[in-house]
Amino acid sequence: MMTAVREQLRAGATQIKLSVGGGVSSNYDPLDVTEYTFEEIKAAVDVAKTWNTYVMVHANTDASIRTAIAAGVLSIEHGFLLEEETIKLMANKGVWLSPEPLLNDEDAFPFTGENQRKWIQVTDGTDKTYSLAKKYKAKVAFGTDLLFDPTLGPKQGKFLAKLKRWFTPYEALKIATSENAELLAMCGPRNPYKEGPLGVVAEGAYADLLLVNGNPLENLDLVADPDKNFAMIMKDGKIYKNTVK
Ligand SMILES: [Zn+2]
Repeated sequence: MMTAVREQLRAGATQIKLSVGGGVSSNYDPLDVTEYTFEEIKAAVDVAKTWNTYVMVHANTDASIRTAIAAGVLSIEHGFLLEEETIKLMANKGVWLSPEPLLNDEDAFPFTGENQRKWIQVTDGTDKTYSLAKKYKAKVAFGTDLLFDPTLGPKQGKFLAKLKRWFTPYEALKIATSENAELLAMCGPRNPYKEGPLGVVAEGAYADLLLVNGNPLENLDLVADPDKNFAMIMKDGKIYKNTVK
């Protein structure tokens, strides 16, 4: 584990992600499995610390999340099967939770067989996970590792809009911008964004700006359809779309 983590960091990784519990789309890891021992996870955390960065983990089950937290992991990705005591612990320790608003709805993935069974199991936990995170004011991020199918990219706005089930539009937008930036900045000197802060509108910050037709603070659904509703898209000062005449 130590060798593997050092190799990733030497190759330029800014932070380390381990898969410490079973996945939905993967075929060889049942959901209930914890894939590393405490010692293995701690070994990764120890090496990440020597590089002044941190470890995040893919984990759904309460057992795998507990083991990861005990080993010093600072961010839990997914967490759809966690228990109330665990989210309390995360809130107390300032451990981040980065779930996705995945539901067995019209945006469900076309899994079959065992993958479909696992999909139902995790999406049954989505509402509980977000509700508990909100109740205990845990640090919540907005992210995904569903990156490997190009058709999913345009759905990201739809997923962001789904946060309205648990959060106000203001809270949802803050999660996806300044709070996400706070999480990523935990990689300290490994942070590739060195010119200024991310996720805020301020002098000297990266100019990542959207001009929206409408007020997303009143209607979060506007972000679900960027083609229609985003009049201008600017990333790091460069305009990528501009329909303002
Ligand atoms: Zn994952």
